[in-house]
Amino acid sequence: MRRGVTQEATPDRPQMKPNIAAIHAYVPGKSGGADGKPRIKLSANENPLGTSPAALAARATAPAPSVYPDPDSTALRTKLGELHGIDPARIVCGTGSGELLTIAASAFAGPGDEVLYVRYGFTLYEIAARRCGAEPVEAPDADYGTDIDALLATVTPRTRVVFLANPNNPTGTYLTREELARLHAGLPPHVLLVLDQAYAEYVAPENDDGGIELATRAANVLVTRTFAKVYGLAGERVGWGYGAPEIIGALNRLRGPFNVNSVAQAVTLAALDDQAFVIATREHNTAVRAAFCDELTALGNAGLRVVPSEANFVLVLFEGALTATDAMAAIDEAGFIVRHLPGQGLPQALRITIGTADQMQAIAAALRAAAHTAAEGSQ
Ligand SMILES: *Cc1c(COP(=O)(O)O)cnc(C)c1O
Repeated sequence: MRRGVTQEATPDRPQMKPNIAAIHAYVPGKSGGADGKPRIKLSANENPLGTSPAALAARATAPAPSVYPDPDSTALRTKLGELHGIDPARIVCGTGSGELLTIAASAFAGPGDEVLYVRYGFTLYEIAARRCGAEPVEAPDADYGTDIDALLATVTPRTRVVFLANPNNPTGTYLTREELARLHAGLPPHVLLVLDQAYAEYVAPENDDGGIELATRAANVLVTRTFAKVYGLAGERVGWGYGAPEIIGALNRLRGPFNVNSVAQAVTLAALDDQAFVIATREHNTAVRAAFCDELTALGNAGLRVVPSEANFVLVLFEGALTATDAMAAIDEAGFIVRHLPGQGLPQALRITIGTADQMQAIAAALRAAAHTAAEGSQ
């Protein structure tokens, strides 16, 4: 025994930190049925149009794999700066925006601190909070949407970071520019607001939430974006963050040294040049989402309710005879996988990614038939 060490029962194996043991590992959207039959995956908010052809072609232009990539993603940050009219020095790229969300919590919160987000927020926020030893805190929602006053009322002297996805996942709900400004104005200046804009490109430009402008002038706002959704590059794992130099400096200390690989840098650079693909994706999503919502609304009093969405998915609530579990089974039978999130307190809902027009018509038809069957059974 070493001197000066009090005698305690020494564990016979490495002991996981309690804050790490409390994490429920992130559960990704499933991609196959229980029976092994192939299903169309509408459970991970991927782009049904695929990827820009220009981005795909750029894979071949990546530097040789034997050399390390640019550690600072310089060309990518320069192009992002041009596209969004912002200073590239205030941009940091990440291995998906997930890396940046995680290290943002670690940089600004720790044991004894609180990390705040809304009920029905993105599950990564809780993981990010626990990972750095901070306490995750949920603010009450307002009928699945963000309740700004409730969120502000939940801020305590221990709050260090507030996460807000706008549009939010898994609800699709959205705060306007005025509402976001009011939320920011109500936060103490030492609380970091992480504005997760993973779905921002799906919102019509005239309805932009002003997050990037906010991050330009405020010292306590970090905006994050991703190439995983509208750009159709989920597999390349690239996201970026923008904020005050001190915030970006903190993230640069914590991120992986070569966190964006050579192929990912080449492909995302090319993707940024194809804004026509981004616009086509947005227009497709807006039209197909509206048609799908109309079809579900037309089911009348079947007890289905669609939470208003600005994203590339909708949260459908099952408040009548047809349960979410039975609806999920009917959708599965029709050949699709969607997202049931009972672990997030949403046993009554399904999150359905907007696919092609044909796919959404098939899902609506399956739900129509299932609602009909459930109504007969309950009579
Ligand atoms: C999909 C998603 C992201 C993106 O994560 P990546 O790590 O960039 O793939 C971030 N936030 C939310 C809310 C999301 O739904």
